[in-house]
Amino acid sequence: MKGKVFLVGAGPGDPELLTVKALRLLRCADVVLHDDLVSPEVLELIPAPAEVLRVGKRCGKKWVTQEEIHALMIGYAREGRTVVRLKGGDPAIFGRTGEEIEALREAAVDFEMVPGVTAASAAAAAAGIPLTDRRHASAVLLTTGHRSSVHVADDAGPQAQPFKTTVAVYMPGQDLRRVREELVQKGFDPSTPCLLVSQAASPRAAIHACTLGALEQSPPLSSPRLLIAGAVAASGQPAAAREEAGHETLPEENDVSLSVIA
Ligand code: SAH
Repeated sequence: MKGKVFLVGAGPGDPELLTVKALRLLRCADVVLHDDLVSPEVLELIPAPAEVLRVGKRCGKKWVTQEEIHALMIGYAREGRTVVRLKGGDPAIFGRTGEEIEALREAAVDFEMVPGVTAASAAAAAAGIPLTDRRHASAVLLTTGHRSSVHVADDAGPQAQPFKTTVAVYMPGQDLRRVREELVQKGFDPSTPCLLVSQAASPRAAIHACTLGALEQSPPLSSPRLLIAGAVAASGQPAAAREEAGHETLPEENDVSLSVIA
């Protein structure tokens, strides 16, 4: 029997945001290789006979190297097993899936991708905003603050484009001042509304609303965190959450406030 590798998106945390296909594959997998971002609630859905291996990183330190992950996937598939390579969110968004696909192709191992709900969508849903809104934004830029700089191309700033852009910064890191500086340098105004969304799609979700200029004064919300910057962010946080936190209206510009959505 020929084995196969399924590169599956686990979604942002809430098991109800798994696709039906992801759930079906988790139920019939022989081996599941998962990242740290996959929630315990999703891992609980994997039946006992499956071999479940954690291959993520912790505190920036890899348990298993990327090459070892490739070797594990290829090795199990060649034994004829059904392998689920389970990644947080969508496997094709900042998930090193490109390298894994290349390794599988080179090894002539059959594979299939199963998309998932990406963190930017979950963060927007938690805040009650659309990422696009024809009145405010007609483009979405998914970028990363990982490593030394925000990866926003020079022509990606709002002034350089004929349309208004919502920016979703994955892995914004601890140095929010650098994220702010880079976005301002690319043409985003310091008054741009921002939402820092922590642990979207979980009962621990928290949202902080501020302007880009005041980004580094944000409270230390726990990881994983994602930044949404753009006009659509102005209406972030559902009314109920604002009232709970004692805000009748959205915070003043540069005001620092924290609302927890239970
Ligand atoms: N493939 C994933 C992204 C992997 S990069 C996806 O499509 O969502 C990891 C980053 O995603 C985290 O550092 C964080 O910025 C973001 N992220 C993942 N899950 C999140 C969540 N539940 N809430 C907020 N941000 C999240």
